[in-house]
Amino acid sequence: MNNELKTYEQAETDYMNGFKYKEIAEKYNVLISTVKSWKTRYNWNRKGQKSTRTKMEKVRIQNTTSFDEVEQVVENDNLTDEQRLFCIYYVRCFNATKPVNLDKSNVSEINRGHINISTYKVITAENNIYVSNNIRLKPKELHTIDLSISESLKKLKISDVDNLPRVVIINSSEMQTGALASYNAVKNVLYIDRTIGSRLKLLELQKDAACPKNVLSTYVHEYIHWMDAQSYRIGYGEIIDSSEYLYWIRHKSKKKIDKLINKGYNINRISGYASDNFEEGKYDETYTEYRVKKLLGE
Ligand SMILES: [Zn+2]
Repeated sequence: MNNELKTYEQAETDYMNGFKYKEIAEKYNVLISTVKSWKTRYNWNRKGQKSTRTKMEKVRIQNTTSFDEVEQVVENDNLTDEQRLFCIYYVRCFNATKPVNLDKSNVSEINRGHINISTYKVITAENNIYVSNNIRLKPKELHTIDLSISESLKKLKISDVDNLPRVVIINSSEMQTGALASYNAVKNVLYIDRTIGSRLKLLELQKDAACPKNVLSTYVHEYIHWMDAQSYRIGYGEIIDSSEYLYWIRHKSKKKIDKLINKGYNINRISGYASDNFEEGKYDETYTEYRVKKLLGE
């Protein structure tokens, strides 16, 4: 850093503190026109609090940036909203290019239907994510899924991370059912079709769901299933028999829906998916969709 740099930086601070051009010129022994040219060149601006440039230089985000560190930056009171937004986007873009790092030394086998899937744990994710050996996940796909999970947990105010499901990203042929995501309560596993690692495709595919335009709709739906399973586990212990659990949760959900209907609520306003499942007696799906809609709004 040379002297001229230091002078104009100091001068900027003075300017922000309300000094006049003349006072600044005298203090640093330069012409008034020089001070004015600094103001233009370096975009000094008293209106929008501190100038963006100088502050930005101070916000250094390293390669190892974690969500905690980002939170600290974002919660820094000295930043304007614009600067805060910049930091958030910067980190998001940066994370989206980090290579997907898998722990290849640790293979977990998992059965889904009649298919056996070999999975590896992702090292570079915020959440407990595994990836099928049959897909080459792109950094952006992983990042989108990872971030959507974190945001959904926040939305649902889930802070108890103890028994969160293992997330397994698989391909459509491994999913077999055409679902975008599917929660298995017995295994406590959340399967996610890698296709929804693209937000555009997700929005297209979830158009029959509650709040179809919200990128968290599918994720929130699945984590509500997990919350239901959790409340069963707390009351009755591990879920061993899926049909027993389904009987319990559908019965419970039906009671809630009946209450809503009695109050005059139109079940068919939730989503196409909710209505179809209601017809089939899968009340847990309908009530889950109702809660998605309630949480995410329209
Ligand atoms: Zn569901």
